[in-house]
Amino acid sequence: MADLVVAGAGMAGLVAAAEARRLGATPVVLEKLDRPGGSMRLSSGVVWRHRRFDRFRAECPAGDPLLQRLLFERLDHDLRWVESLGAPVVARDTGNDLTTGVRFDPERLTATLVAAAGDVRVSDPLHELPDSAPVVLATGGFGADRELLREHVTPEADHVMVRAAPGSTGDGLRLGLAAGAATSTGLADVYARAMPAPPARVQPADFVALSQLYARHAEVTNERRERHATETWSEVDTGQWMARQPRARAWFRVPEAALAERVRERSVGEMVEAAAAAGAPVRREVGHVTVETVAGVTTTLGGLAIDGHACAAAGVFACGADAGGLATGGYASGLAAALVFGRIAARTALGENP
Ligand SMILES: Cc1cc2nc3c(=O)[nH]c(=O)nc-3n(C[C@H](O)[C@H](O)[C@H](O)COP(=O)(O)OP(=O)(O)OC[C@H]3O[C@@H](n4cnc5c(N)ncnc54)[C@H](O)[C@@H]3O)c2cc1C
Repeated sequence: MADLVVAGAGMAGLVAAAEARRLGATPVVLEKLDRPGGSMRLSSGVVWRHRRFDRFRAECPAGDPLLQRLLFERLDHDLRWVESLGAPVVARDTGNDLTTGVRFDPERLTATLVAAAGDVRVSDPLHELPDSAPVVLATGGFGADRELLREHVTPEADHVMVRAAPGSTGDGLRLGLAAGAATSTGLADVYARAMPAPPARVQPADFVALSQLYARHAEVTNERRERHATETWSEVDTGQWMARQPRARAWFRVPEAALAERVRERSVGEMVEAAAAAGAPVRREVGHVTVETVAGVTTTLGGLAIDGHACAAAGVFACGADAGGLATGGYASGLAAALVFGRIAARTALGENP
């Protein structure tokens, strides 16, 4: 008999179950899809935090400072715990001076966490809250649900690309609200990336490789030729803006001289060629190349309101993308939130000190 029910076998749910087992409990993880791992498996695997807390606050000013402080203070310790479970580290560097963290191989991280979580049941969604045990909601937010995106985020919801695991359709939000939970700040906020526009074909395994991360080197316009100036290193503002433009589209016009610029491991020119190879409309003129892109919604940033114990309602705990209000107004690591609050949720649900 399970003494903790966890909904969702993404990073947050698997971490919660692994932590529950460490404490001697017998959790069960229910997963809607036929595979565990959620969006973690499609991700770059970089679990990170801002190097400085004031920077985190400045970048995500409308986020809950208490939750942000917990993430900031606990992540390094929690990363060592993940390593102790056997997840091999690919790099101890994020490639960004503003942030610090660890890069894991997503497949091997998933396998490690599944082994640590114990009883993980795929193709077995949670439909109703159980009476028999506390529940941890870790269903990954609502980025894959066009109805909820239309209601909370953008009237252009039919046009955005879902750049996330398909199971994250707001089940945790619905179940939590029905149990008396409140919504967090920033329900309209998403983390979105510019992706090659249709007719490009983008498979989930290519979400990272086909991201178009060069808004800062481009002139960005919408269908009405209105311009947008990127203001953040993460380009989260551009993704948010794109999601709300007509047909969620933007055109990135890049001067030839910028094609050699590097963004992380790739050059701008390589990203442009990847979009062209995938089938996106690419216009080549003398001195410029223009790529048509579409907003790829990756995670919702708003969700259930939680306190510092990851509690959303009596006996109901939320973590990962189901818990909103951490990165409101900006961008923070979704994997880090899943790790830190997955552990907190399990501890509180089992009556331990969070
Ligand atoms: C391409 C890409 C790259 C990314 N790169 C990074 C990165 O490098 N660093 C970073 O920090 N973040 C990154 N992210 C974001 C990060 O992957 C997510 O924020 C994080 O994985 C969310 O974890 P989660 O456990 O909250 O949700 P999810 O991973 O979405 O897991 C939720 C799980 O719950 C399941 N589920 C849904 N409903 C139910 C139900 N009713 N019952 C049971 N199960 C249910 C879903 O099927 C899913 O498996 C990336 C995301 C993508 C898509």
